[in-house]
Amino acid sequence: MRLPTADVLTLTRRYLDLIAGRDLSPSEKEAFIAETVESYEAHVNRGFLTYRKSVTQAGQFAALEWSGQGSILRDLLGREYIDALGGYGIFSAGVNHPKILKAVQAQMARMALNSQELLEPWRAALAKLLAAVTPGDLGCCFFINNGTDAIEGAIKLARLHTRRNLFISTLGGFHGKSLGSLSLMGKASFRTPFEGGLQDVRFVPYGDAGALEDQLAVLDAVGQLPAAVVVEPVQGEAGGVVPPDDYLPRVRAACTRYGALLIADEIQTGMGRTGRLWGVDHAGVVPDIMCLGKSLGGGVMPLSAFVSTPAIWEVLIPNPIIHSTTFGGNPIACVAGIAAIEVTLEEDLPRQAAEKGDRILTALGALRRKYPQVLTDAHGRGLLIGMEFPSDEIGFQCAAGLFKRGVLVAGTYSKARTIRIEPALGIPVPLVDEMLNRLDDTFREIAATL
Ligand code: PLP
Repeated sequence: MRLPTADVLTLTRRYLDLIAGRDLSPSEKEAFIAETVESYEAHVNRGFLTYRKSVTQAGQFAALEWSGQGSILRDLLGREYIDALGGYGIFSAGVNHPKILKAVQAQMARMALNSQELLEPWRAALAKLLAAVTPGDLGCCFFINNGTDAIEGAIKLARLHTRRNLFISTLGGFHGKSLGSLSLMGKASFRTPFEGGLQDVRFVPYGDAGALEDQLAVLDAVGQLPAAVVVEPVQGEAGGVVPPDDYLPRVRAACTRYGALLIADEIQTGMGRTGRLWGVDHAGVVPDIMCLGKSLGGGVMPLSAFVSTPAIWEVLIPNPIIHSTTFGGNPIACVAGIAAIEVTLEEDLPRQAAEKGDRILTALGALRRKYPQVLTDAHGRGLLIGMEFPSDEIGFQCAAGLFKRGVLVAGTYSKARTIRIEPALGIPVPLVDEMLNRLDDTFREIAATL
């Protein structure tokens, strides 16, 4: 309902006062929490309040995220949470990394966004840096603001370059939810409400190189070869699903054999998450297009990119605005990306992810032996780890039990009985161990009810 201007300004002034950092009394905090819940119900999506079952089951669904540092998040009431979720992969460098914040604040004070008419120096600098850290001769970059749009751009680039329209994706794959990227989604419940407008895609089981080779042979026989095969080096939203060692090399070889591009979706696996800088580094594979996102912005700015080779990029040169966007490659996002690359390399976040990932997987192996009726499997690479439970209900109980004990973990989109552990790569070891203690405690509580 439209309000008089004076009432709107009363609201904006109160919000800006809070944003500026005015302290709230306990009763003001309670009132603000209630107001936020009401606004979610009326103006955001009331379904979201109950959808996060882990939080609602713990009876704290109105926890308001207020501040954070490193691997600790705080709500408005001052309760602390160990962040073992990493904002679904954005906080690889931790929350509010001081170096990344400082760079962004400095650029913000100079020029937050750009005219788009003059050359943007930090876009060029970040592209040069990515060329220096990505495999093979990848090194031509287009920047946007989220993973979905990086995939959209990669789809368009592959179609332009190959003049083919078909794509191959994998079961359980997650690549975004716009119509183009949704077409690659390997899960029915998100696809079926939108069928009709989607890009033509064939699906093959993830991790099964033979199935892909067979599919390509069939498509070749009927003259329907794909523009590209899109694959995550480790499936993220599906819960840290690691393919066999020969999978990516065979996918690479099959793509080359049939003239299809290999698009590596590194939106979740990139920037050290799996224990190497890029997920494809484990297999020594060079894709034709790499999509980056999430932690590329250092957990401070939204930033994503698709990166390809000079030969493939040629198709974008005659009309450089055939694919363009207003905010893509803006200065504050690119500055965040530059600082994120420095932090990732300087703090050797990939090595940290590998070591802490091993520590967690070893501990989960022990917990699995201790509570076989609760934890049925644990898998992953680096700090992209999935825990499997015998049922959705036990998965929810685990997430809720952890939330109650001040630990945030990530659900997966594919099945509620899989839960991800995806903390900042620099999470201190004592916090990892504390998280594991609380996990043990949660499993003990659940086991007692079975
Ligand atoms: N690709 C992968 C592998 C992802 O994990 C995600 C998000 O979870 C996306 C694409 C979509 O990214 P965004 O949500 O930033 O649009």
